Amino acid sequence: MTQKNGKKLDNTGWSRLSTLLTHSARPKPPSEGVFVNGPVTRGSTVLFPTVKDLNSNDEKRYNHELTYGAMGNDTQFSLEALIAAIEGGQHAQIVGSGLLACTFALQAFLKSGDHLLLPDSVYGPTRRFALKTLSRFGIETSFYPPLAGEEELKSFLKPNSAVIFVESPGSHTFEVQDIKMIARLAHENGAKLLLDNSWGIGAFQPFEHGVDVSIQALTKYPSGHSDVVLGAVTVADKADWKCLRDEAIYMGLCASSDDCWLTLRGLRTMALRLEKQSETAYDLAVWLKSRPEISMVRHPALPECPGHEFWKRDFHGASGVFGVELQSDVSLSAMENMLNNLHYFGIGASWGGYESLVLPTQGSITRCYKSGVPQNAAFRLQIGLESYEELRQDLERGLESLKTK
Ligand SMILES: *Cc1c(COP(=O)(O)O)cnc(C)c1O
Repeated sequence: MTQKNGKKLDNTGWSRLSTLLTHSARPKPPSEGVFVNGPVTRGSTVLFPTVKDLNSNDEKRYNHELTYGAMGNDTQFSLEALIAAIEGGQHAQIVGSGLLACTFALQAFLKSGDHLLLPDSVYGPTRRFALKTLSRFGIETSFYPPLAGEEELKSFLKPNSAVIFVESPGSHTFEVQDIKMIARLAHENGAKLLLDNSWGIGAFQPFEHGVDVSIQALTKYPSGHSDVVLGAVTVADKADWKCLRDEAIYMGLCASSDDCWLTLRGLRTMALRLEKQSETAYDLAVWLKSRPEISMVRHPALPECPGHEFWKRDFHGASGVFGVELQSDVSLSAMENMLNNLHYFGIGASWGGYESLVLPTQGSITRCYKSGVPQNAAFRLQIGLESYEELRQDLERGLESLKTK
């Protein structure tokens, strides 16, 4: 074989090289010692010792065992086991984003001709998926007030209501829902109860309260460093797992090993971060409540938060994200000016990282609610790991600036 540059490499040379490249430095059987952390496992093809082993894949797909890369890998399975343990469920499926966890779970439990109930306070993109995508497949959605009592909620139910979705507390407006009552109503009507439990991770045990399917944006506290986008769906029941897992297989849903590994790493310190962030957030919420510029603080641990009694009854703790509403005489532009000039609070979406964030929420509040919610300028705070005193002073300077506008 002659190369362009005239150099010769005979067939023996090529074949020796290609065999070497293919078969050297491959995984070894485990030795006695192990690292504290598992590796990032990457892969598409899984090799089996025999054809019989290859053909036994069907059952393995439901048991978090290696069959093919798109069905998961060891890094993903480790994360799935940890999320299921945190949520108190049996099985979790990791997918590429928190939003995908919401949309895929809805897709798994709904079919054409079904009716879906979404709370009016739901995360905006989940609302959009119902209106833009599910509607194209013949699934009708009704929006119910998150704090609807039993009789009012019953009036939204139809014979074909297959899923009641809850998000507690609600994005931006922080209503805590009466999950126990909603679960009973759902099950009496043969519907599944799906919960977006992103805010309540570790503080709300969904399956103890009758939830069938629990959804997590792992992007938030679990990964914890604003460098990963990932989601999880957890179930406690075997038949629900079959339904969910089938949908993941049919759709080809999988996640990046690197993102799973980063999330596992983040989770090791999540309890510490949550403890600190939740304490600073609560202290700031109490302080903000005392300020004359503020009409309401929507923090589930404060009695004035809508649904506070359900938080008290059902939750072990609060996270570090809450809403603030300014007095009605504060204009939107004055608020924007205040937010632009905060020193420690970045302006941006998402939450659960180590750094503090602020997000104006007034637009989404008026968009979601038909009535009954004040139209004041409002924002949401995500409290990071900075010191209480520095964050308080930053907010104080901001609130003082409202007076001069
Ligand atoms: C952030 C968030 C999501 C979406 O998560 P991504 O990973 O950003 O797609 C879903 N639900 C709630 C309540 C969220 O806060």
